[in-house]
Amino acid sequence: MPFCFHKCHYCDFYSLVDTRDRQGPFIRRLTNELSALASLAGPVKSIFVGGGTPSLLAPTLWQDLLRALGERFDLGEIRAGRGEFTVECNPETVTPELMDTLAAGGVNRVSVGAQSFNPAHLKTLERWHDPANVGRAIEMARAAGIRRQSVDLIYAIPGQTLAEWRDDLRQALALGTEHVSAYALTYEPGTAMTARLARDEFERADEDVEADMFEETLRVLRGAGLDRYEVSNFARAGAECDHNLGYWRHEDWLAAGPAASAHVGGARWKNAPRLDDYLDFSDEGFAPVVDLETPDPKRALIEAIMTGLRLREGVDLSRVRERAEELRPGAGERLLAKAQSLAGEGLLVFAHNEAAHALERVGYVSLTDRGFLVADGVIRRLVGVLGV
Ligand code: SF4
Repeated sequence: MPFCFHKCHYCDFYSLVDTRDRQGPFIRRLTNELSALASLAGPVKSIFVGGGTPSLLAPTLWQDLLRALGERFDLGEIRAGRGEFTVECNPETVTPELMDTLAAGGVNRVSVGAQSFNPAHLKTLERWHDPANVGRAIEMARAAGIRRQSVDLIYAIPGQTLAEWRDDLRQALALGTEHVSAYALTYEPGTAMTARLARDEFERADEDVEADMFEETLRVLRGAGLDRYEVSNFARAGAECDHNLGYWRHEDWLAAGPAASAHVGGARWKNAPRLDDYLDFSDEGFAPVVDLETPDPKRALIEAIMTGLRLREGVDLSRVRERAEELRPGAGERLLAKAQSLAGEGLLVFAHNEAAHALERVGYVSLTDRGFLVADGVIRRLVGVLGV
């Protein structure tokens, strides 16, 4: 959903400021794309509508989109409550009417972009919403019968103290959410935030403060029963985002809309990133694809290690060893030796215990809390021995 009502200064997602006049043509085009994609899909396990700001779309257009999804795809799992249907919401644009519309169309989870509850830090990020509206948005979702809610937060904002970050975490928990995504602020090329940093308008957060904030996140959220299941994602047991787990486990997914990317059978492709190109290409069928990558076993192996290690469940070492060995004899053994040495340093842990047996995850290896702090370095060292 490519529309936002204002561009946040840290954002490098594709989105454009909404002028309302293009919402209708966009939904017509999207609906036609969904018709073309439907022939590729089996029963749907999960849907995630992200953006942009999906909650900016007019409720009548949401009705058209939800009807189209229901008519073209098998949403039986979602309607039975076993599947997941998430919509990202900006707290400022949520209304009871919108929440009722979403719930009637099968949406059972909303992800609310709070980022911070501190007005000064929201201003630094150029986020335009009243922090009190986060709670209101969650209440509206609950009143409409949308059972699951997640709150997005950002830390390491310039000028933010550890105590202020702790307060943000506590305010999110006070809303009764069972899922929190907590991201360290990053300075992506081409964003207004990065330009302001280059002009010395502020100082970026100190690395030690950022590490303290990460540790505080673990402490506060775990204390409330939300454990980390991915580097930046925390949930009560059973409240994890199934859709995102699918990405990280390299399952197959289809994608629709400008800049959306899909992954099927090891192949990946990305739709044209700009709304104009997406609308102009053709009003029928598939969207224009700008990047198509055919299956590449080397890249798939490296990605399986990289994304697997971002998860608490870790990566199936016996499986990746086999794949490494097929690509280059000796690579599997080197991988095992390196994993053992990283475990000796307290950065990785092997799953041998009863819980791992029960979950059929014996042979998995995952990052320790200390390993998570230096995740990129650990992954680099592990991937570096493959020689593929
Ligand atoms: S609302 Fe989200 S997608 Fe839109 S500009 Fe802000 S961060 Fe980017």
